[in-house]
Amino acid sequence: MSSTRTFTVPMSSPDITAEERAAVARVLDTTSLSIGPVVDAFEQAFAARVGARHAVAVCNGTAALHLAVILAGVQQGDLVVTTPFSFVASANVVLYERAIPVFVDVDADTGNVRPDLVNEALADLARGGKAARQWLPPNLRDDRVGPVKAVLPVHAFGQPADMDPIVAAASVNNVTVIEDACEAIGAHYRGRPAGGLGDVGAFAFYPNKQMTTGEGGMLFTSRSDWNTLARSLRNQGRDVHGGWLDHARLGYNYRLDEMSAALGLAQLERLDDLLARRQRVAAWYRERLTNVEEVVLPVTSATTTRESSFVFVVRLAERLDRNAIIKGLAARGIPSRPYFAPIHQQPFYVARFGYRSEAFPVCEAWGRSALALPFSSVMTVDQVDVVCRELTATIHGQPVR
Ligand SMILES: *Cc1c(COP(=O)(O)O)cnc(C)c1O
Repeated sequence: MSSTRTFTVPMSSPDITAEERAAVARVLDTTSLSIGPVVDAFEQAFAARVGARHAVAVCNGTAALHLAVILAGVQQGDLVVTTPFSFVASANVVLYERAIPVFVDVDADTGNVRPDLVNEALADLARGGKAARQWLPPNLRDDRVGPVKAVLPVHAFGQPADMDPIVAAASVNNVTVIEDACEAIGAHYRGRPAGGLGDVGAFAFYPNKQMTTGEGGMLFTSRSDWNTLARSLRNQGRDVHGGWLDHARLGYNYRLDEMSAALGLAQLERLDDLLARRQRVAAWYRERLTNVEEVVLPVTSATTTRESSFVFVVRLAERLDRNAIIKGLAARGIPSRPYFAPIHQQPFYVARFGYRSEAFPVCEAWGRSALALPFSSVMTVDQVDVVCRELTATIHGQPVR
């Protein structure tokens, strides 16, 4: 990416108040900067909001997903059915455990994984034989592989995947549902909060998410054995009542510090307001782009009963060269990004698994045409005006002013 200094509108921006700065500063006046009371308070507040019995704060969303994969018992050679249209971390956490992501294609309207394909894949993989092999990555079709241990749907751009049929299919096949809700903080699916829809869920608090802790993440589960295990795994494998140098299992340092938790707790108190501001910016975009023929606006599905936009992603008509539009926008001082880049097309996935072009055609069409525009809760209507004006001018090939 070129330097953001030349851009007139930032791609994203955190939204931090004086009260939030003060909350962080108050922690710095205490003696516990990690493993202290603020992380506990942050966890309890979030568990209540999501409707999960337990919340475990960790150092980022990827760590939350990695722990979720371990909780699901995923081991070397096991399979995890997931989406190729996501941020790379949602599949990488499967690779961390030397397991195999089994990708299925996504919905053309939402970009979320198709529950009917998840269902088919689970049924075929349970049956084994030829029917099962067609779902495996090309390079592994002749290999011996383990069973499916989990399904890992992702809520693309903040819109919940169609979870009910996914959970039903998982339950029939006795596999764990890991919900990557990293982009969907505050969203509701059929009246229920994202993050608490599967067996284990994950949020991320990177600075461009709906709320931030700097770096940070949260794992949700209603199983108390998984809560205990996750707390041990994030803290170097220590048991709750064990000593500092007693390590019951292989663990990690995935802890969240107290300053980050203080920021998160204050942001969580303001989450409804942060979401309302984001949806207002999204509405401004919709109003201004609705009549631009070459731009397809994001679709809100009927199952999304509360919206929480993480990014504002439009699709460009297939005849337009999306990457040229990004360059054109940059020349006009407007940052924009492809989002997502399909995971199975990342070079190390191609090298390892042998994916060829058109392996997941709907995902790949999204990958070619999706364009993330500048978006945040602090974006002004004037900034949205400028972005939409310059986008339209770029599409119509008008000269840079
Ligand atoms: C942000 C994000 C993550 C990971 O979050 P980090 O905190 O950056 O590790 C995982 N999955 C998706 C879909 C995300 O958008």
